[in-house]
Amino acid sequence: MELLKTLTQTPSVPGREDRIRDVIEQSVRDLNLFDEVHIDAMGSLIGLRKARPKDGAASSGPPVKILLAAHMDQIGFLVKHISDDGFVRVNPVGGFDTRNLFARRVRICTGSGDLPGVMNPGGRPIHIATEEEKKKVPEISEFFIDLSLPAEDVKARVRIGDMVVLDGPFEEIGSSVVSQCLDNRVGCWAQIRAIENLTHHNCDVYAAWTVQEEVGLRGAFPAAYEVDPDLAVACDTTLCCKTPGVPDEERVTVAGDGVCLHIMDSSMIGDIRLIEEIEAIASAANIKCQRGILPRGGQDGAAIQRTRRGVRTVAFACPIKYIHTVTEMAHRDDLNAYHRLLTAWLESV
Ligand SMILES: [Zn+2]
Repeated sequence: MELLKTLTQTPSVPGREDRIRDVIEQSVRDLNLFDEVHIDAMGSLIGLRKARPKDGAASSGPPVKILLAAHMDQIGFLVKHISDDGFVRVNPVGGFDTRNLFARRVRICTGSGDLPGVMNPGGRPIHIATEEEKKKVPEISEFFIDLSLPAEDVKARVRIGDMVVLDGPFEEIGSSVVSQCLDNRVGCWAQIRAIENLTHHNCDVYAAWTVQEEVGLRGAFPAAYEVDPDLAVACDTTLCCKTPGVPDEERVTVAGDGVCLHIMDSSMIGDIRLIEEIEAIASAANIKCQRGILPRGGQDGAAIQRTRRGVRTVAFACPIKYIHTVTEMAHRDDLNAYHRLLTAWLESV
C-alpha cells in the first residue's frame, strides 16, 4: 500500500505528468521489471518485458504482444489568470463536479515549488447569503484560489499553465483505501504489481503509463500505435454506486466483488471472447471478478482498440465509490483481485 499511497500523493494533471512518471519509472527500474523502458514524444512511459518461457523452452513463432495501459494523469486544473489583487483563476483539465469543489485545500505546482492555497467560489458566506445564492451550483469559472500572499508575490511565482491539484490524504478506512486520484493511480499500481509477480510468460509484455487520458484518451493513441499489440488490457477504474441515493440498477459494480471487466462503456465494447477467457482463468484461480456496464464514460482501451488494424481489447476496472472526488474509495479485495487476475492472465497467454 506504500507504493499506492506515494502514487496518489504525487500531483500530475493532463499535460503535466512528469512527476508521476518519475515515480513510476524509478519504481519499475528498482524492481527491474523490464528489458527496455522509454518515454514517447507525448510523455507516456513504455516498458517491454520480453517473453520468459518456462525452462527457456523455445516457443513456436514470435511471442504474442500484449499491451497493458494505465493512464497516469489525474483530474485537476491549469492556472489561467491571476487578478490584480492576487487571486488565481483556473481552467479544468478533466471533469470535477463543481458541487465537490467548495472549501478545498489546493496546491499550485510552480517552477519554484508548490504553494498551498484554498479554493472557493466567489460569493457571500452562509450568514449573509440570500436564499437564491444558497441554492445555486456555481460554474467552474466562478471558483478562485486564495494563496494569502501579496499580489506581486503571486505574480512573481505563479505562471499561466501551472498545474493545480486538490489536496486529499491517503488513508486506510475499514476494508478500503481512501484517497484522491485512485482514478487512476490504482491502475498504475496494479500494472506494477501484476508484472512484479510474474513468473514465466510466453508473451511479450508491454506496459504503458499513458498521458492525457482525462481530456480524451490522447496519450494512448500513439502508445498503442507504436507497440502494435495483438491483445490489450486498459487498466482503469469504474463507478461503484451501490450506495444510498442510487437505484440498484445503476450501481455498475459492487465493492468487494472483485475487479470489473467492462462489458461496455460509452467509448468501447470489450472483446467478449477475451472477457470469457479471462473469466475462466479467474474462476480456475479463485480470483473474484465481476462484469459491469458503464453507460457514460470512456477509457484508454477505446483508443487502443481502434489502432492500426484494430486490437482485441478489454478494460479492467477497479470499482471506486465517490469517484472524481478527493474521497475516492477502493475495497482491498478488489485491489488484490485486480493485479492477481492480470498476472494469472499474462501467464496463461
Ligand atoms: Zn480513469
